[in-house]
Amino acid sequence: MTDLSATSQKQITIVVPAYNEEGNVAVLRDRVAATLDPLGRYSWKMLFVDDGSRDGTLGALKRLAQEDPRVGYLSFSRNFGHQAALKAGLDEARGAAVISMDADLQHPPELLPQLLSLWEQGAEIVYTLRQDTVEVGVFKRATSRLFYRAFNALSDLDLDPGAADFRLLDRKVVEAVRQIPESGLFLRGMIHWMGFRQAALPYRVGTRHSGSSKYTFSKMLRLASDGVLSFSTKPLRMASLAGCAVSGLSGLYALYAVAMHLFNRNTISGWTSLLISVLFLGGIQLLSIGLLGEYLGRVLMESKRRPHYLISERG
Ligand code: UDP
Ligand code: MG
Repeated sequence: MTDLSATSQKQITIVVPAYNEEGNVAVLRDRVAATLDPLGRYSWKMLFVDDGSRDGTLGALKRLAQEDPRVGYLSFSRNFGHQAALKAGLDEARGAAVISMDADLQHPPELLPQLLSLWEQGAEIVYTLRQDTVEVGVFKRATSRLFYRAFNALSDLDLDPGAADFRLLDRKVVEAVRQIPESGLFLRGMIHWMGFRQAALPYRVGTRHSGSSKYTFSKMLRLASDGVLSFSTKPLRMASLAGCAVSGLSGLYALYAVAMHLFNRNTISGWTSLLISVLFLGGIQLLSIGLLGEYLGRVLMESKRRPHYLISERG
């Protein structure tokens, strides 16, 4: 008799971007194993993506892969960023479902059974919603809230605040993500945009196990601007609207100036209003040109069609 339980096991892959996470990868593997093995229904693999770490992450991954055949890794030639690492993981992952999570244990592995059960109930995307707790710093909470508010106002999407890159994707969705050629990838928005049957799972974010946050302020800014600029051209429209409003006002002021000149010969030329209007117009013009430049720069980067990441080692 054939062993049905072995053949009916579902194949899943867990993708984990890791940048300088040497103290976390082994702990994460242990906690994932402790959660999934007792269920017995899944044949799982972990695919770590070493995003050009400068500490011992790659060494730790090599040791882990040697002792556990369920662990695999990709190593980038340099730091390409979290979104690129996620993309690489999705490009390479096999299995009927792919789960992505952070390496620092802030995304609790104990939640995996719930993600999987929502998937088995028919959801093709299971995304998680971070319940902000004291574990998330004040600065992170404030900037994140500001970002989601701005993003939702500027784009046609409506992202849930606290959406993170901790989610399960069905094979169908993974294939769809692999088709996306754009390089300024903002996966959160993209996956929301894609549709499919989605389910949300709220969770309490954990504390980082070891090390400190790898998202520097400039990386957060980059992610935020990629997010807004790749999903909206509203900022361009706002620049033109500001241009119209300012021209309208200056038209009125011109009429006033001419009237004053005609009816009151001793007009003292208004140095203050002149200065203000010159500065104001100059400011708006520079801002609009900068905005155009941001979009144009992205068009340039897309047109180069460079690969999103380069892999130097795998195992
Ligand atoms: N990360 C990455 N490349 C980077 C920055 C971060 O792969 O350039 C990974 C990091 O190792 C972690 C995840 O992205 O697994 C989230 O980063 P982090 O925990 O530092 O962000 P935070 O939780 O502070 O938002
Ligand atoms: Mg973290």
